[in-house]
Amino acid sequence: MPCERGRFAPSPSGPLHFGSLIAALGSFLAIRSRGGEWLVRIEDLDKPREAPGAAADILHTLERLGLFWDGPVLYQSRRSEHYEAALERLRDRLYPCVCSRRDIANAAVQGVEGPIYPGRCRRVSAPVNRPAALRVLTDDRPITFHDQFHGCYTQRLESEIGDFIVRRADGLFAYQLAVVVDDAAQGITQVVRGSDLLSSTPRQIYLQGLLNLPTLTYGHLPVAKDRQGHKLSKQTGAAALDLRQPAALLFQALIFLNQRPPWELSGMTPSAVLAWAIKHWNPARVPAPFGKRGFTKDNPKNITDADSG
Ligand code: GLU
Repeated sequence: MPCERGRFAPSPSGPLHFGSLIAALGSFLAIRSRGGEWLVRIEDLDKPREAPGAAADILHTLERLGLFWDGPVLYQSRRSEHYEAALERLRDRLYPCVCSRRDIANAAVQGVEGPIYPGRCRRVSAPVNRPAALRVLTDDRPITFHDQFHGCYTQRLESEIGDFIVRRADGLFAYQLAVVVDDAAQGITQVVRGSDLLSSTPRQIYLQGLLNLPTLTYGHLPVAKDRQGHKLSKQTGAAALDLRQPAALLFQALIFLNQRPPWELSGMTPSAVLAWAIKHWNPARVPAPFGKRGFTKDNPKNITDADSG
């Protein structure tokens, strides 16, 4: 097994758009430039939100872009027994929760990711006759990691997020649980993805600790936004990539990632663009996701300026 592995883990809620291309390309270059493997995982846990044909379409798009992956594609929808086993291992730290979104919104303080769960069902046992979510008990020790694009990020789970859901009341396993189980199962060592997931990382590191799984290295890329400043996303109908000129798309993505590709590359093949980009990948040039490297008092994300410059 090579010493390093990265991955791209799209949810098949629609075709790839420019924002997901950034995550795909950034994770690909970050690991290939180190001689590592790049794996693909389809995060299709939430079947109701899946767009028919989207998984196949995403894989086809990656191939057209020359983003070829190593090994078999992993589908989360086929891995329930592994998530179940992880829940079993966490059992002593889980409790059922019947709070509705409205209950929480009424009682909670807003955090980086919406309401901080106030711990109601932690204190009062939930009635057994209602479908309950499972939450994991958190504590307030600071969890700090070094993000390869912007330095240190610290979060205290209990006071900034609250006990979080690992299995939903409708029985679906939560993203936070599945991602931790699967990153370990796939032998991933380096996660590079959009900065919308930056504040999820401490939850994932926390679960890795509870499950005795290795902690990975992380890097969060700036997310592409539409003209109104909203993150491009499949749910909000971001335009699918136009594959008539795949090399030009890669070229634009390299510009977004501030890799300064030479102009001639735009007319070449995807594999020529990628060969150049692997050779010249420079993580220090990737723009910091929140405008400038480092934590400012106006920046709600607790990022410190450990490696700017
Ligand atoms: N499935 C997530 C998404 O499509 C990405 C998860 C991850 O990279 O950890 O946004």
